[in-house]
Amino acid sequence: MAGPVSRALRVPSFAKVNLGLEVLGTRGDGYHELRTLFQTVDLADEILLQPRPEDAGVTVACDHPLVPKDGTNLAVRAADALRRYGNVATGVHIEIRKRIPVGGGLGGGSSNAAAVLLGLDRLWRLGLGPAGLHGLARKLGADVPFFLVGGTALGLARGDEVYPLRRQVRAHVVLVDAGMPVSTAAVFRRLDASLTPRENSNSIFYFVSRDLEGSRDLRLLTNDLEQAALEEAPALKERAERIRAVLVRAGAGLAALSGSGSTYFGLFDGAGKARLARRALGAAGFAAIPARTLSLDQYRKVWSRSLGR
Ligand code: ATP
Repeated sequence: MAGPVSRALRVPSFAKVNLGLEVLGTRGDGYHELRTLFQTVDLADEILLQPRPEDAGVTVACDHPLVPKDGTNLAVRAADALRRYGNVATGVHIEIRKRIPVGGGLGGGSSNAAAVLLGLDRLWRLGLGPAGLHGLARKLGADVPFFLVGGTALGLARGDEVYPLRRQVRAHVVLVDAGMPVSTAAVFRRLDASLTPRENSNSIFYFVSRDLEGSRDLRLLTNDLEQAALEEAPALKERAERIRAVLVRAGAGLAALSGSGSTYFGLFDGAGKARLARRALGAAGFAAIPARTLSLDQYRKVWSRSLGR
């Protein structure tokens, strides 16, 4: 095997939204059995991986005050895990420029972890690739494996079994951070307390099977966490209703909460509608972030370029 690369490597770390999310029940291991439709968007953090001597270990810097700068940072945990796994005798300094809202259900931490795995796999010339990194990724978090793949993908089990959809969703996206972080654990606890059997939950099945036949209906998709999130943070409810009303009025094909929140998003089939939505949201006092969906192919291309392949 060739030695590690000594230059720095810059990699992107994209955000995701959950186009749909079904909670099917609790599992023996304490996690929840999920069915979700993930979608990467082109809003991204920027990560710089700088080789350091062995005794420097793994360190991190980040320009966002809410992101931990110690060993609890998911990017550091990813680097430590890969370093041990690959028996790597070199350190790394990770610099994160945050653009993805933190704690907003956009998967920023998980994405950072996957980006570090892919980047360091290259920097350290381990040659594992997405498939070889999957085991490490799922131990770091249920959403991490998805970011090894990207695009529009079905997530099963804890969300960590990832299957790309043949027909990728392409849309203009408007992201609205409702600015009220909701604890994911608290949302799941609330849901558990009210959990009625959900075997009949099948909106994603309907969406995917109809989609394969050529009739795409985003309105079939739902998020089982939304009600629990709004009950958990009553102040979010009023904002959520206003945000959703603006997105729908502007012509969103889907307006939903991402994950457990507190980011809302709208999908639009044209740049004009998305612009209209952003303006209307601005007038209502909400800051909106423009984005585009990133398909499986686009995700692969961006990553190949970043890794110099
Ligand atoms: P989740 O639903 O998994 O909690 P999220 O998408 O809502 O994730 P993240 O931006 O991933 O939100 O942040 C969740 C928490 O993870 C933050 O409060 C932060 O303290 C912690 N965290 C650890 N590492 C990172 C990282 N590299 N980037 C962002 N947050 C991180």
